[in-house]
Amino acid sequence: MPLYEYACEKCKQHFDEFMPVGSEPPKCPSCKGASARVWTVPATEWNPPLAMMHRAPGAFDGAGRGSYTGK
Ligand SMILES: [Zn+2]
Repeated sequence: MPLYEYACEKCKQHFDEFMPVGSEPPKCPSCKGASARVWTVPATEWNPPLAMMHRAPGAFDGAGRGSYTGK
C-alpha cells in the first residue's frame, strides 16, 4: 500500500498513513477530525495555478491560508 500524507482540517496536524488506493482519508490521530490528502509533487515546482486548481481545505500547512483576504 502506498504511504500517503494527510493534514487534519481541524488541528492542521500532518500524519502519514498506509492506505489503499482510493480509500477515504483517515481520521486525525490527535483530534479525530476530518483530514485531507496532501498532494505532494516530487521534484516539481509547486506553481500557483496548479496549486489553485488542486486546492483543498486542509491540504496546505498554513501556506496561503490566513494571509489571503480574497484578493
Ligand atoms: Zn486534528
